[in-house]
Amino acid sequence: MSKNNKYVYFFGGKKADGKAAMKELLGGKGANLAEMVNIGLPVPAGFTITTEVCTYYYDNKQTYPKDLKTQVLKLLSKVEKEMGARFGDAKNPLLLSVRSGARASMPGMMDTILNLGLNDTTVQGLIAKTNNPRFAYDSYRRFVQMYGDVVLGLKPVEKHDEDPFEIILHNKKEANGFKLDTELTADHLKELVEEFKNAIKEKTGSNFPDDPMEQLWGAVGAVFGSWMNDRAIVYRKLNGIPASWGTAVNVQSMVFGNMGEDSGTGVAFTRDPAIGENIFYGEYLFNAQGEDVVAGTRTPHPIAELKKDNPKIYKELDDIRKKLEKHYKDMQDVEFTIQQGKLWMLQCRVGKRTGFAAIKMAVDMVKENLISKEVAIARIEPNQLNQLLRPIFDLNEKKKAIAEGRLIAKGLNAGPGAASGRVALSASDAEEMAKTGDPVILVRIETSPEDIKGMNASEGILTARGGMTSHAALVARQMGKVCVAGCGSLKINYKDGEITADGKSFKIKEGDYISIDGTTGEVIVGKINTKPSEVIQVLISKSLDPKKSPIFQTYNSLMNWADKLRRLNVRTNADQPDQAANAIAFGAEGIGLCRTEHMFFGGDRIMSVRKMILSDTEQDRKAALNELLPLQREDFEGIFKVMNGFPVTVRTLDPPLHEFLPHSDKDIREVAAALKVSEEKIVEKIHSLAEFNPMLGFRGCRLGILYPEITEMQARAIIEAACNVAKAGIKVKPEIMIPLVSDLKEFQMQEEIVRRVAKEVMEEKGKKINYLVGTMIELPRAALTADEIARSAEFFSFGTNDLTQTTFGLSRDDAGKFLPLYVQSEILPNDPFEVLDQIGVGQLVRMGTERGRATRPNLKVGICGEHGGEPSSVEFCHRIGLNYVSCSPFRVAIARLAAARAVVKEMKAGKADKKKAVSKKKLAKKK
Ligand code: PEP
Ligand code: MG
Repeated sequence: MSKNNKYVYFFGGKKADGKAAMKELLGGKGANLAEMVNIGLPVPAGFTITTEVCTYYYDNKQTYPKDLKTQVLKLLSKVEKEMGARFGDAKNPLLLSVRSGARASMPGMMDTILNLGLNDTTVQGLIAKTNNPRFAYDSYRRFVQMYGDVVLGLKPVEKHDEDPFEIILHNKKEANGFKLDTELTADHLKELVEEFKNAIKEKTGSNFPDDPMEQLWGAVGAVFGSWMNDRAIVYRKLNGIPASWGTAVNVQSMVFGNMGEDSGTGVAFTRDPAIGENIFYGEYLFNAQGEDVVAGTRTPHPIAELKKDNPKIYKELDDIRKKLEKHYKDMQDVEFTIQQGKLWMLQCRVGKRTGFAAIKMAVDMVKENLISKEVAIARIEPNQLNQLLRPIFDLNEKKKAIAEGRLIAKGLNAGPGAASGRVALSASDAEEMAKTGDPVILVRIETSPEDIKGMNASEGILTARGGMTSHAALVARQMGKVCVAGCGSLKINYKDGEITADGKSFKIKEGDYISIDGTTGEVIVGKINTKPSEVIQVLISKSLDPKKSPIFQTYNSLMNWADKLRRLNVRTNADQPDQAANAIAFGAEGIGLCRTEHMFFGGDRIMSVRKMILSDTEQDRKAALNELLPLQREDFEGIFKVMNGFPVTVRTLDPPLHEFLPHSDKDIREVAAALKVSEEKIVEKIHSLAEFNPMLGFRGCRLGILYPEITEMQARAIIEAACNVAKAGIKVKPEIMIPLVSDLKEFQMQEEIVRRVAKEVMEEKGKKINYLVGTMIELPRAALTADEIARSAEFFSFGTNDLTQTTFGLSRDDAGKFLPLYVQSEILPNDPFEVLDQIGVGQLVRMGTERGRATRPNLKVGICGEHGGEPSSVEFCHRIGLNYVSCSPFRVAIARLAAARAVVKEMKAGKADKKKAVSKKKLAKKK
């Protein structure tokens, strides 16, 4: 808790107590409301109760600090003065909204209450003030409904239950023969207020509070309470937001967009959040309140139409748009209300966007001189690049589907990309169906925050209602899901489990395939195959001219900037020439791991491998290895050619041999015939090779130590290939890597074989090759004795898959059974096989590197476990001074960007350190 004990911050008029930099204390919403006031935008006055109060609330049995009430009352009267109205006043009542506002935006996860302050007395004041009883009672019934739901807990229980207030509303309309809410008169709405209050009393046992002050504190408590509701907890987990941050509560004067046709409300983005174009983007409704736009109960108009509907307000908004981008230097998402012709800004925050849009905007903003390249790089999460690499539909198949009349509807293109999957009609069904491994498309009338787990499990989301800023659209974009929203012609019948579309004869049942195009908004019956993105078409299939693809050019600019910044090299894990070629197209600068055993499965090689393993004598083993030699040599020649002078790290045989053994009767028969021995003998041999724990058994360098002829053959294949390719004028840089070493002597024995064979081959070929011999560090003992191992090893590559397995004592093959639970119950923050455990395993990586370099200062060190393509792990590798990371080809671009971001982060930290040092100096001088 801060020392000054200021719990409440004012905003409004010309000056606010807070500012944008105070997000931790005021939450994102509160800090930005203050900032908007400070830059001269019209903001209805209010105050923010700080996140520290939330923390206090949970630390002190849901109570408030002593002084809070006094501070709230003081600022409430300041708000009253600013707005010229009084809270609870019979003639001129001030109405309030009470909203949550955490440090990071959590759209729709927590509670909000609007129109607070209304009761049977104040509603008369509102009527007198507006001369509009219908509006006043409509506000009143909305308030009772929200308060009843959020504070008093009258809400649907089961997934198919309807909202109890909606049932009453529906009955009222039906009894009067009405279809629309707008047909209800003031008297009907007044009746609804009573009926709502009665239902609350009946179902919850609580009286609806008439005292505005009691309403206010009830609402504040409910908002703080909603920080710990289930959906907020799930959302925080998905987005890595710690519970300790807490939420602020914003209490703000209400302004009304439903005061007639000169009023309205809307939401907008300063650029297009789906594709990133620099256009004003948003939607509005006349005579409506904010919830109508967001909830998707009415389909709003695109903001461009406001230009002709109300040119004055449009211009004012467009000027604000420019001012906001210039001030914040980022795309903003705003909420606004027009009350009887006056524009009010209710919220601004950095707008959520697709990965696709994030990249386009960042690159464009650099080109517009709005931000630096470093800022652009820092702004893009490396995994967002996936969205540029995302599949699109095979156009021919899609054309065919449309010609067959399978295009059944068109909605809003809310999240780009193409997805095809089985229909699930509820979030829980989506989660269940996804477990079978089939792709799922979640189809809902509209989504709500409860649906996030199901949305997360789905490939795509399709809704019948709601606009580009509806819950479905916002959350899908953030998750990077394909999304088509507001597809009004779809009729979704949850009960019968089916979907129909206006004017179409197709009926889709839950479980059927459906395809959605989140770039065009099209909804198509059945499955459509997807196809690589433009970047893939340019880089990999080379079927698209880069000059004809603006998307590729955006990608390319960004990657070029990243390459200029980063210091970490990025290599790839590849075992075949085509994989290596893909990786180079993505910017790889070498192979960090070529797993030779993967080559053993190509063609008929497995038979020779089996012969080798099952041989009883060295002679037989050598004969089998001789069959493998030319094949391996060919593999290496192919790879060296593609890599064209980039270093290639080839690992000698590593896995436990049982992985190659025959299992079926047919295979056993074939091997017996090839080896000219009985089948029983083979079966016996297989049994004799069985191990209790093969991962800790006869594998890695242990194979080459017991059977040196294996290492001999592999070293020969590598160096022969290198000589042959070098003779053809292509540069080669082989790096031979010995796996699973735990002691210097193991390494030295293998090194001796490699160097002896290499010397022989080079003499035979009359060609000298520069090569290195190094080791993998994938056992804790290797990391601990790295100073010794580095006496002989010329490079290290951390095999963090095995190092994680052996450090945790956690089998990488069996951990799937319990690891998810570990993550779920927060025993571990992440799956350590996916995200490097920096504290434990990372410590060994750091120590191994330091010890290795203590012996051999120029030791080249890399990482080739799966973590090499995971952004936070890449950043760690940069921080501890590795030379490179190596990852799968399709993650190379992600690793390049992550490596550049690590530099930007370091630069920022450096600047912060400098600032700290300067202010310390100043302080010292003053003293
Ligand atoms: C490792 O252990 O990290 C590694 C790269 O080797 P493999 O996955 O082949 O065991
Ligand atoms: Mg390994």
